[in-house]
Amino acid sequence: MERSTPLAGPRMLLKRLRDTMARAESVEVTLGEVVRLVANEMVAEVCSIYLLRAGEVLELFATQGLNPSAVHATRLRVGEGLVGDIAAHGRPLALDDAQHHPQFAYRPETGEEIYHSLAGVPIVRAGRVLGVLVVQNRTRRQYDEEEVETLQTIAMVLAELVSASHVVSPNEVQQVDGIGLLPLRVDGVQLTPGVAIGRAVLHEPRIVIQRVVAEDVEQEKVRFLEALRGVREDVDRMLEAHDMQSGEQREILETFRMFVDDRGWAERVREAIDSGLTAEAGVQRAFDDVRTRLGQSTDPYIRERLSDLQDLSNRLLLRLTGRVATDPSTLPDDMIVVARDMGPAELLDYDRNRLRGVVLEEGSALSHVAIVARALDIPVVGRAPNVLARVEAGDPIVVDGDNAQVLVRPAEDILQTVHLAIDARAERRRKYAALRDLPPATRDQARISLNMNAGLLIDMQHLDDTGADGVGLYRTEIPFMVRSEFPDVDAQAWLYGRVLDLADGRPVVFRTLDVGGDKVLPYIGAFGDENPAMGWRAIRIGLDRPAMLRRQLRAMILAASGRPLSIMFPMIAEVTELLRARHLLDLELDRSRRRGQPVPERLRVGVMFEVPALAWQLDSLVPHVDFISIGTNDLLQFLYAADRGNTRIAGRYDSLSPALLRLLHFVVNKVRPAGVDVAVCGEMAGRPVEALALLSIGIRSLSMSPGAIGPVKAMIRSLDLNESAGFMTTALTQPDRPLRETLRLFAADHAIEI
Ligand code: PEP
Ligand code: MG
Repeated sequence: MERSTPLAGPRMLLKRLRDTMARAESVEVTLGEVVRLVANEMVAEVCSIYLLRAGEVLELFATQGLNPSAVHATRLRVGEGLVGDIAAHGRPLALDDAQHHPQFAYRPETGEEIYHSLAGVPIVRAGRVLGVLVVQNRTRRQYDEEEVETLQTIAMVLAELVSASHVVSPNEVQQVDGIGLLPLRVDGVQLTPGVAIGRAVLHEPRIVIQRVVAEDVEQEKVRFLEALRGVREDVDRMLEAHDMQSGEQREILETFRMFVDDRGWAERVREAIDSGLTAEAGVQRAFDDVRTRLGQSTDPYIRERLSDLQDLSNRLLLRLTGRVATDPSTLPDDMIVVARDMGPAELLDYDRNRLRGVVLEEGSALSHVAIVARALDIPVVGRAPNVLARVEAGDPIVVDGDNAQVLVRPAEDILQTVHLAIDARAERRRKYAALRDLPPATRDQARISLNMNAGLLIDMQHLDDTGADGVGLYRTEIPFMVRSEFPDVDAQAWLYGRVLDLADGRPVVFRTLDVGGDKVLPYIGAFGDENPAMGWRAIRIGLDRPAMLRRQLRAMILAASGRPLSIMFPMIAEVTELLRARHLLDLELDRSRRRGQPVPERLRVGVMFEVPALAWQLDSLVPHVDFISIGTNDLLQFLYAADRGNTRIAGRYDSLSPALLRLLHFVVNKVRPAGVDVAVCGEMAGRPVEALALLSIGIRSLSMSPGAIGPVKAMIRSLDLNESAGFMTTALTQPDRPLRETLRLFAADHAIEI
């Protein structure tokens, strides 16, 4: 239905703006007319436009209401004052009492002391802030959402005007980003490991919206619907045609497809068109709006939804602007795709055989694009600041996922070193591949159980290529995170069943959901814990929402369909928690029996030992478990009160400290005599020196990421466990300093491969 009355204002304003711009005066004059027009229409005493200049300075370019002499004289740094704040964060502000805001910076030359309220929006184009548009009033006026949205729409029009007219030379602002042809190192975070060399392909060369103001609103709505239909057909084709090797990749595309059908979002676009924008400007506006609302979130799930939405918006914009996507045949054979962010469908658009690596300005390790890239074995570095502005298409570029850095236009000697590193890596892979079929047994014939950690179906292929004994930890939360609603029992059972099929008789330990903490599922609603690692997470959620946990256990029993099954509960802090979880499991086993469904031929139940308090409950715990798996990632963080995700304290406490090793030694001595298996499945298990220490204190089962199996197996096969256990007994009584160096020397003396 048309919402003509309230929107007639903005629509009219846009028409007037267009007329003003069409008169083709000089830009300075046009900007002056724009501020007059906006002030008038919005009943504001002041309207000003600040534009970004070299040195990250915002300069007043036009004003209605402030002292005219302040134009080109008033300058604020990005981040300084309210205007600087709007530019720095790229988000609107609306304040009824601006002068008392902590960010307020008073500029006497403007004469603005008499204005109390302020609303401002960033002028953004292709994701970059070009300036700020502000209105001010004398009274303490509360600007409503619709007024702010109107300002945003005007800012879009201004963005096109400013960039097309080159009122500020693009070169001038680019200098801020340090564009030059010098080699450059950009540090980011590892989204997927590996190293690749190639030539840069700038993803999503910016889509320029030429037409912003609609001539005919109804016609624009039709164009939007047609474009949406076109995108839907593209995704369907992708779903049919793409080689969907794993359930998750398909699932990710299906989730994306749900976005295409999302009515709420389409409604937003229609509303934007209703306000007088063209279809393409409406799409951009709706996306910017969602981005403003959700962009500050650090929640990976929400950020991921944004990438999907960006992917969809780009596809729509390509269609609506009639721009053809780059002809793939013109792209280099060794593509390193550089993007602000990407959705999974966009990654799959690139030819897999030519894609070497990806660099993103945003992204998180749990983002869909990272999950798909990991499955395809493509290194990705994320959160590489400003990289798009610093790279030119065709630049030679190195993506070093292992060290979380990107080398742009590296010098020849650096390139050679990277080539050597890539070769050495390939050589190591060959060496470890040769160990694949040899048993992980020590020189004195102790057989170690060597397992891998997994969390995606695609990971299961590594069982064969590493020769691992089984899966010591299957993290079930990842498939839950790529969905927008709770997967039902059938979907879960299908997935776990596939895992067991692919394991082909090798044991798999399924861990029940370990969400909460930083892995928030919106459909569980655990937002807002102040101390999430110690908050409502893992088994705590499972026991508070027993129906959810029971559905997962039911799915596991169904998936096993009579085959052996191992289930592990995470974050157990008290024995009663395990007993309650076991009770739910018993209820599900009874349910299956009553329905005549097969129950597992052998069921093993275990707990993760991650919370130190469990160490003093082992006597009452062991009668109820078949195994204990030590999660050193969390255990270390709780033992030392040191956030595992905080880079500032990463490495501060050594995992080879006597404190941790003595604790683990104590656990092994308590648990093993009771016939209960003890394994380690934290990252520590995958590092050869640490693995040496763990075996030497009596651990006989390790589980690690697939890439660590080869190096750890090489260590095991060169080790005399009797000797190292003896050495360790003495070492543990030594003064309290980390044993890393001592162990290294021991390994060197005894030809142990670490
Ligand atoms: C651990 O805490 O060591 C562990 C293996 O679990 P996660 O890393 O999934 O928390
Ligand atoms: Mg853990």
